[in-house]
Amino acid sequence: MQKQIQAQIDRVRKQGAAYVDARWYPFEESQALTMWNGNLKNNTSSRESGMGIRVLYNGAWGFSASSDMTALPALFDKALENAKAAAERVTFPVRLAEKDAVQAQFSSPNRINPFEVSLAEKVDFLKSMDAKLEQKGVFQRISDVQFVRKQINFQDSEGSLVEKLITEVFVSLQVVGLDAQGNAHERSFTAPRRGKTRGWETIDADYFGEHAERIVSELNQVVAAEDCPKEDRSVILLPGIMYLQTHETIGHALELDRILGYELAFAGGSFVTLDDFGKLRYGSEKLTARADATLPNSPGSFGYDDDGIPAQNNLLIDEGILVGAITGRQMVEEANARARKPVFSGSGGANRATSFYRVPIERMTNINIDPGVDGTLEDIISQTEKGIVMDGDRSWSIGSNREQFHFGTQIGWLVDDGKITKVVKNSTYKGDTLKFWNALSAVGDERTWEVKYVDNCGKGQPNQVMQLGHGIPVCRFDNVRIGE
Ligand SMILES: [Zn+2]
Repeated sequence: MQKQIQAQIDRVRKQGAAYVDARWYPFEESQALTMWNGNLKNNTSSRESGMGIRVLYNGAWGFSASSDMTALPALFDKALENAKAAAERVTFPVRLAEKDAVQAQFSSPNRINPFEVSLAEKVDFLKSMDAKLEQKGVFQRISDVQFVRKQINFQDSEGSLVEKLITEVFVSLQVVGLDAQGNAHERSFTAPRRGKTRGWETIDADYFGEHAERIVSELNQVVAAEDCPKEDRSVILLPGIMYLQTHETIGHALELDRILGYELAFAGGSFVTLDDFGKLRYGSEKLTARADATLPNSPGSFGYDDDGIPAQNNLLIDEGILVGAITGRQMVEEANARARKPVFSGSGGANRATSFYRVPIERMTNINIDPGVDGTLEDIISQTEKGIVMDGDRSWSIGSNREQFHFGTQIGWLVDDGKITKVVKNSTYKGDTLKFWNALSAVGDERTWEVKYVDNCGKGQPNQVMQLGHGIPVCRFDNVRIGE
């Protein structure tokens, strides 16, 4: 197959294409199981295969995709025809940043392939979680597992050949309870990645069982609690909400295609401009953020992106100053041309497609915050006069250019004079992105740092749902409006 694909790539190149690549998925399989109040509510599986082809001709992309591999020449011809048609109305000719050709393989580390585990064993795990969640005060309980395994073979006209085998396991637990007024409250647990692997072995029933009991206990406290006060406090965010703060106001804001206006029609823009790189004070000196696609155990790590660029660990914000973006080959060239100076020195390796029949676009890898020097959660609480600890995402609303935000969290613990005093319900906080990150006053050390994943990040037209990660410590921000 590899030789047949290469022959087609060479043939289309000879017909005048500047660049050609093919992503062949020999298989992609997925499975999702949901246990809802003791019943197996959902058991879906899918398996697909196919190929996507990109052709660059006279500064314009053409794309074609099919699951029918019997007529490869016609599939390549279609991508070329599409590129020729697009070239007639191109406004900004596509150029690709330089890269080195690689011949490489990547396999996400795992010991047990989840697709070799029996359905009975998976259902047993969900039943054991359901039994832990079935307690007084719980109105609705949901345990959920998802598995993905896919092979992606990438080849291009510049001599690259990359074979990737990606395996992912996702687990989440959720409970819902009603307060005295009949309003619903939820508490959930999405497992952080522990260890170095990503297979079935990451499902540890004892570990999840402990967290199941914890979220039920916390739900019952929330249901019985008073409302969050409306006032200014220091906000201490645990990784279970801090990951979303980072995702929405650093990750999405720093996607280079969004900065250049390509997502305006759907996902929105960014307040960041090309002039800001190297200058803008994004946050306090305690803020160092990076796009790190080299973490072994996270879905934001994939070895090589869909341009064939190796995984990188790139600074985005260095001690508060904006220094980098989430980039791929095409957008760095366009950004440098528009800025009339070299803002970016090459692709950051973040161009990914969600399937063979979608084109790659810039996606978050693992958008992480470096651990700080302010100790444990207990240390940070003990040094907070008037604050609130928050965890769990309940609602979110973000300005279309990522300039403001409002988050509702599942639980809040008020802190007064260095001690937790009580739990509150309906906890919320809001702010302006830059003002908020500049109010970052404490960052927990590596003991507070967790790798959270996002399995449903949406972007692009047509929509592409992507999986990625966030390595996140506990963080404290001062003078934040809460409760409204
Ligand atoms: Zn997202």
